[in-house]
Amino acid sequence: MSECWLFHCPECGFGERELGRKGGDHDVYCEVCLEESGVRVRLLRWYADPEAPETELPEKAEPAK
Ligand SMILES: [Zn+2]
Repeated sequence: MSECWLFHCPECGFGERELGRKGGDHDVYCEVCLEESGVRVRLLRWYADPEAPETELPEKAEPAK
């Protein structure tokens, strides 16, 4: 298991948030662009730092009421 890549598609904006998990070593091309337009778009990837604390996603944050 080496799903530790954060990634972002420069074409459609697909990333690990949309996927719901971090990318693996095999996730080189954007699945969305490949399925929808048959275009292989190389994902921008960067290694998730295991030392870094998990950042809260804004959409997951509880609204202050
Ligand atoms: Zn894409």
